[in-house]
Amino acid sequence: MPAVMLLFIGGEWSPAASGKTFAVLDPRTGQEVFRVAEADKEDVDRAVAAARRAFDEGEWSRMSGKQRGKVLLKLAQLIEDNADEMAAIESLDNGKPLVMSKIADIPLSADHFRYYAGWADKLHGKTIPCDNTFGKASRAAQWLPFFAYTLHEPIGVVGQIIPWNFPLLMLAWKVAPALAAGNTIVLKPAEQTPLNALRFAELCAEAGVPNGAINILPGFGPTAGAAICRHPGVDKLAFTGSTEVGRLVMKEASERIVPVTLELGGKSALIIDKHVDVDKAVEDAHFALFFNHGQCCAAGSRTYVHADIYDEFVAKAAARAQRRVVGDPFEEGVEQGPQVDQDQLNKILAYIDVGQREGARMLCGGKRRGDAGYFVEPTVFADVTDQMKIAQEEIFGPVQSILKYHTTEEVIARANKSEYGLASGIISNDVGFVNTVSRSLKAGTVWVNCYNVYDSAVPFGGYRLSGVGRDKGEYALENYTQVKAVYQSLEPNQP
Ligand code: ADP
Repeated sequence: MPAVMLLFIGGEWSPAASGKTFAVLDPRTGQEVFRVAEADKEDVDRAVAAARRAFDEGEWSRMSGKQRGKVLLKLAQLIEDNADEMAAIESLDNGKPLVMSKIADIPLSADHFRYYAGWADKLHGKTIPCDNTFGKASRAAQWLPFFAYTLHEPIGVVGQIIPWNFPLLMLAWKVAPALAAGNTIVLKPAEQTPLNALRFAELCAEAGVPNGAINILPGFGPTAGAAICRHPGVDKLAFTGSTEVGRLVMKEASERIVPVTLELGGKSALIIDKHVDVDKAVEDAHFALFFNHGQCCAAGSRTYVHADIYDEFVAKAAARAQRRVVGDPFEEGVEQGPQVDQDQLNKILAYIDVGQREGARMLCGGKRRGDAGYFVEPTVFADVTDQMKIAQEEIFGPVQSILKYHTTEEVIARANKSEYGLASGIISNDVGFVNTVSRSLKAGTVWVNCYNVYDSAVPFGGYRLSGVGRDKGEYALENYTQVKAVYQSLEPNQP
């Protein structure tokens, strides 16, 4: 009988009001490993009430920034202290290689809390001298000096909905800046990967996050997720996931005029110049796409290669993909584990089918691996054209699409033709090419001679259908603060 994990509301563990639970499956086998309480509207009501109390009457929003910073530092430390366990949970839940959980997901999450701990006592406004012409007019020639100052106040109860591809890291991106600024939180992890969010809730209690300041509600999108978006007590919405659901979240936010940040899909172009070390470019492009099994919203999923090196690049890219080690994420040397669930597996195989039917040249892969779990063979398509579906839509799987280009102007125009604008990359040794292309690409991130670098201090977010607002860095604090302007007269007190 698998263990049942509960909801975290108001600092306590509680079953769902409906009594319902749902299964967490091991993506290696498709077998159930845990059951988790399934939150719905009533649980969202309870969680929002707890977050409201914690915000209006509790200590979190009133604590000094320094004190909040100390709690966030403790959280960072606790994540590091429990890194091995949290890495194992991440790999079990999501299917990513244990080594990647250990070197990427968990340390980056800890780093995120440490980074925002540093901001918690630096959220101050400005002092603004004012020219009081109105005062002068009303009081004849008397000069009435004024000044104004701004306060960066927390917004209140924040509703956050996150995806399954980096379960703990996506939580950290949302939670750390919101807590640093003094907000309280109701967060729904993705139904595929709720486990580390629940482990994180335990760490919050240990770190001294007050009861109700963070509430974790595993559940499904159309029920728990929609209830968070619609709840009149939620003052701000933050979402990472598909553009399709992002639209729904924005609609709900617009009904109640609450601010919303959205980090959505992408179809990112990686542009490879002609004078490059082809072996290194192949490795970079491979990492850009296959990292995390292609389950990255910023994946370099349109690989544009200059005609002069195209044939060599294509042959080597296929050879590299064939060498990619697919298997149990807990085994040493494995680069790629299973995709997260059956839906993703089906979606990826359907895109591979479409790619073949539309005339792209499949060089390797193309099939499910084995008949247990959700493994997909690393797949490479060459001779992809911009009109093909696999060049336009997000596959979110280990499928590389290689396109040929001839001129700089041409590749910039083609790269920008996507309706998305999340990320992009350039591989080149020509500084002129790098400068021209990086400034011309309509994307929120440009990686030059690297890819998938995610520093806590650097903003991340999309142009166009890839989203609104920025996660990470100083910029993300704007998502979780509102500015109050206080005007004050400098007129001496009347005797
Ligand atoms: P994906 O297709 O990658 O799973 P989704 O956008 O469907 O991405 O899911 C991202 C997150 O959004 C998950 O936590 C999911 O439960 C949630 N979600 C899905 N549908 C809705 C919805 N209608 N309202 C709110 N949240 C939703």
